[in-house]
Amino acid sequence: MVTTEAVPFAKSGGLADAVTALAQELDRAGHDVRLLMPRYYGIRRDQLFRFPSPLRVQIGEEHYESAVYEGRLPDSEVVVYFLDHEELFGRDGIYGVGGEAFDDNLHRFTVLSHAALTIGPRLGWEPEIIHSHDWPTALVPMLARRGQSSAHQPATVLTVHNLGYQGSYPVGMLPKTGLSWSELPESGLLHHDELNMLKAGILNADMVTTVSPTYAAEIQTPLHGFSLDQVLTSRSERLAGILNGVDYSLWNPERDHHLDVNYTAETVALKERSKSALQTELGLPVTNDVPLIGTVSRLVSQKGFAELLAPGYGALPTVLTEMPIQVVVLGTGEPEYEYQLRRLSDRFPNLTAIIGFDDGLAHRIEAGADFFLMPSRYEPCGLNQLYSLRYGTIPIVTRTGGLADTVRDVTPEGGTGIVLGHACPSEIINGIRRAVTMWKESPNQIAAVRRAGMKERYAWESAAGHYLEAYARAISYRASV
Ligand code: ADP
Repeated sequence: MVTTEAVPFAKSGGLADAVTALAQELDRAGHDVRLLMPRYYGIRRDQLFRFPSPLRVQIGEEHYESAVYEGRLPDSEVVVYFLDHEELFGRDGIYGVGGEAFDDNLHRFTVLSHAALTIGPRLGWEPEIIHSHDWPTALVPMLARRGQSSAHQPATVLTVHNLGYQGSYPVGMLPKTGLSWSELPESGLLHHDELNMLKAGILNADMVTTVSPTYAAEIQTPLHGFSLDQVLTSRSERLAGILNGVDYSLWNPERDHHLDVNYTAETVALKERSKSALQTELGLPVTNDVPLIGTVSRLVSQKGFAELLAPGYGALPTVLTEMPIQVVVLGTGEPEYEYQLRRLSDRFPNLTAIIGFDDGLAHRIEAGADFFLMPSRYEPCGLNQLYSLRYGTIPIVTRTGGLADTVRDVTPEGGTGIVLGHACPSEIINGIRRAVTMWKESPNQIAAVRRAGMKERYAWESAAGHYLEAYARAISYRASV
């Protein structure tokens, strides 16, 4: 697997969790899985083994020499190769800092993609499959095909974790990719007069996967296709939607070491102690009379933050004014949303906003909140609603992508959460009103919904089985070229 993120080394979102958990699961099933990723500043070298000589990557006329460090994913035999190149990766951010993307990302990730094909021969290790993740490494399928006879080509799989990020650049930057102008027409890179890395990946990979069945269908429509819907439809035979799993060794209220009090489905009453501990930590009044609604998220419009925060339009001031609730938001992202959250937090005593990235607090919010709000405009898979189910924290989600696949709206017959038709302020307000009414009037229903959610399991074992099927298909397509 070639990736820009993998926990515990570098993470900006769910991609990092998915890559590591999938690799570990495939390893447990007896497969030889290795990861290649950049060595950002945050990754310490002192515990890693350094290759005696550097890896040389040739891109057009230029060549790049990177030190390679070797480590392991925790609790596994999965080898991780870190590409250590000061000019390209010697910085703190993965894609940028403070919401600004680095302007040399095309260049940085092109070198990583080329390295994915160079490192195997150097090690005398030829993978049957190279699995890329998202636009930064979407050039790999195209590179894997060129210049080699098909007998030696690895099969390629591309997973689209989020179609909203495609890696679009001016055509004039083609030389940065290492492709020549004569290769451009066949490369699949051209899209609306720009280079589009993700498009090239979708067109060249032997198999394309995305992270939920509903999202796989949605991205083939103009509404969610981000202009690539027809490209995806043209490859629909090769497209599979595989729901991410949860790493229950980390996200489990029975054993979560971030909590003072652990609880199970049988002792879920103890969850109230997590709530009061969280209220104390956040400076909110300690009470169980009102529901506490939590959110942990990147603060971007995809996640519904315009619908929550836009001045004169957003739902959050309305619900904070009109309803007996407490709200906690943990996140970082677009400066506009960070600013609005700080402002509202000053204005409303029943809102605490923490602008930052804090894994421990994310766990304590999952455990201490009564409801978890995720009003995404679109959501490829979503992890927090899966964590919420496990923690007995009732998710409030829009009916889209992975949220639609994993949360069943509460009816008198059952259900696991509150499902909104789509992301808009009035739906959010109505959904929170439903939550408040349930909290006040139907404690038995709250208990039943919690129990139903806590029973659900989204194991990586089953997701890994689906990936193995996708790999087998990719290998057979490659063999038949
Ligand atoms: P996405 O990948 O689109 O950001 P997901 O729901 O798939 O969304 O995954 C988000 C992951 O990142 C979750 O594990 C979530 O807990 C974590 N996360 C997001 N923002 C923060 C934050 N500010 N602090 C701690 N964890 C965060």
